[in-house]
Amino acid sequence: MVDQYIIPSGVEDPDVIAAMRHVPRHRFVPDTYSVSAYIDGPLPIGHSQTISQPSLVASMTEVLKLKKTDKVLEIGTGSGYQAAILAELVDKVLTIEIVEPLARQAEQTLAELGYKNVRVRTGDGYLGWPEEAPFDAIIVTAAPDHVPQPLFDQLAIGGRLILPVGRGVQTLELYHRTAEGYQRKALTLVRFVPLVRPENK
Ligand code: SAH
Repeated sequence: MVDQYIIPSGVEDPDVIAAMRHVPRHRFVPDTYSVSAYIDGPLPIGHSQTISQPSLVASMTEVLKLKKTDKVLEIGTGSGYQAAILAELVDKVLTIEIVEPLARQAEQTLAELGYKNVRVRTGDGYLGWPEEAPFDAIIVTAAPDHVPQPLFDQLAIGGRLILPVGRGVQTLELYHRTAEGYQRKALTLVRFVPLVRPENK
């Protein structure tokens, strides 16, 4: 998968490439899809949700320029695959999933694979995880129609936030928090599932 799809897609960071080689993606998809686990596409994981395309997982991870000592927040745990990739690269991963059975399944898969530096929580990721803030990086894998203010607030100075923003086709946006404010960069167009809010708040 890495030689056929990830490297040709332009990913260069050797640590990200090593993580993509190491994490067994077939363990994060339902058995019926395990034959397709190493093809570069999204796959259904139940509850109308999908595991993201591996080349997108790799490129979103790469632009965050993660360090071994980083503490990272992920919104939209899904299968737990992106969390596992992050766990290979940083000190601590906190991940929030709104669909409880997906959160439980992801937690189990991550535990079976021996990841001890990931915590999974069921809840509304729009609100972030204030008790654990600040975060060196935040990655959102479901699309809100605007950047959630709590995520801006929970980003460390020097921190990076990547997220798809919009309805339908979304813009993948990267923010850098500096001492003065936030620098925004639009990266590419993507299509993630929408970030849902409890009771349509
Ligand atoms: N990162 C995942 C794929 C994410 S799919 C992986 O590696 O498999 C997007 C996920 O975001 C879905 O599981 C969906 O249930 C979840 N989600 C949607 N709205 C959310 C919210 N408000 N808070 C937390 N998770 C949310």
